Amino acid sequence: MANAFENAMRQLEKAKKYAGVEPELFQILGQPKMIFQFMIPVKMDDCSLKIFNGYRVQYNDARGPTKGGIRYHPQVDLNEVKALAFWMAMKCAVANIPYGGAKGGVEVDPKKLSQRELELLSRGYIRAMKENIGPETDVPAPDVYTNATIMGWMADEWGLVHGHYEPAMITGKPLAIGGSLGRDDATSRGALHCIREACKLRKMDPKRTTVAIQGFGNAGHFLAKLMNEEGFKIIAASDSKGGIYDPNGLNVPELLKVKEQKGSVQEYSGGKKITNEELLELQVDILAPAALENVITKSNADKVRAKIVAELANGPTTPEADEIFERKGILLIPDILANSGGVSVSYFEWVQNRQGYYWSLEKVQKRLAEKMTSEFNAVWNISQEKKIDMRTAAFVLALKRISSAVEARVYSDKK
Ligand code: NAD
Repeated sequence: MANAFENAMRQLEKAKKYAGVEPELFQILGQPKMIFQFMIPVKMDDCSLKIFNGYRVQYNDARGPTKGGIRYHPQVDLNEVKALAFWMAMKCAVANIPYGGAKGGVEVDPKKLSQRELELLSRGYIRAMKENIGPETDVPAPDVYTNATIMGWMADEWGLVHGHYEPAMITGKPLAIGGSLGRDDATSRGALHCIREACKLRKMDPKRTTVAIQGFGNAGHFLAKLMNEEGFKIIAASDSKGGIYDPNGLNVPELLKVKEQKGSVQEYSGGKKITNEELLELQVDILAPAALENVITKSNADKVRAKIVAELANGPTTPEADEIFERKGILLIPDILANSGGVSVSYFEWVQNRQGYYWSLEKVQKRLAEKMTSEFNAVWNISQEKKIDMRTAAFVLALKRISSAVEARVYSDKK
């Protein structure tokens, strides 16, 4: 199977003929601006020394400081981080926030580390990147298996190294040290705004709409909670250990409790245990992949029966699967739009940090709602006007915005 970066470049290639921008832009976006690869030594609890591989890719900064999360996962590699950084550049442009794109990662299974080891690793990451991360250069955030606690350690370490605390150097922090209200569920709330718009287009009534969610971490569990509160029927959910399915609807508050207390949705009593692969093929109205990339491919896309696929994860659908979805008339809400609520509220957090003035939850959520609804409709309109799928339309919107920033910075005799 092609790696995530190859898939990302194929998506870019597909959008080329519709974007109407200078061809030079594709040279600029064909590779990252900067790649950092480094080792992070950690003195483990048993006093042995362990070396972890760390990465940071700053893909493009035409629109502003680069922005993107840091992932801790055993399968992290440079190709994955490059793809995720590229998608961040596209996503920040779709969200129309003044950032470029970046991503970071550490090849580690954090579940095997003690809290002390995890803290040392996180501080080590910041020390390795100290000269190249900052509020006006590159601003990290949480991603898979990183969270607000880790962002807090990272912010503290950056402050120790630089001699002053600077909350705007990282987002997704705990509230006590400059986090924003509404950041915790922003990715899922943003996706919900898109899903609402998609349901209107497909004339689907939330109260009669079933949902399956793959992944029950930050993105997946908040989506289940918010959609359940809105009356959607969540019939399946999964995590790394597997999934659970009940066609009559899962008891979501109970499921959230089970996940928190017992560590996996599979501990839910009632319903039927299913695999992550089976979840994708269920008879369901809305499918929300919210775990990792490359899970919907040419070998299973045909078996997806959902009417709407909302990508909370980054890169869950391969280009071949995209074509199958198009043929089947599935309405795909692409990652760079569907999950952009997270980075949008990260931007709100950064703005609040720089102003030293903090917003109410209502203000955060109102601005997020306005942004998501307007960007969803901008992408939808492009897709209708050019008769292209939603992913390609989102790329077209992003490419136009990045192209304007490049043109505004560089002399061109075509102006
Ligand atoms: P998380 O670490 O909070 O949760 C990850 C979830 O995925 C866990 O429930 C885990 O059990 C599950 N998982 C891991 N491996 C799996 C597998 N092989 N099959 C099924 N499930 C598996 O991470 P998150 O922040 O929720 O991120 C999930 C996805 O959403 C990622 O693609 C991430 O890049 C994307 N995303 C997250 C945010 C955010 O704000 N958290 C924003 C934008 C995009």
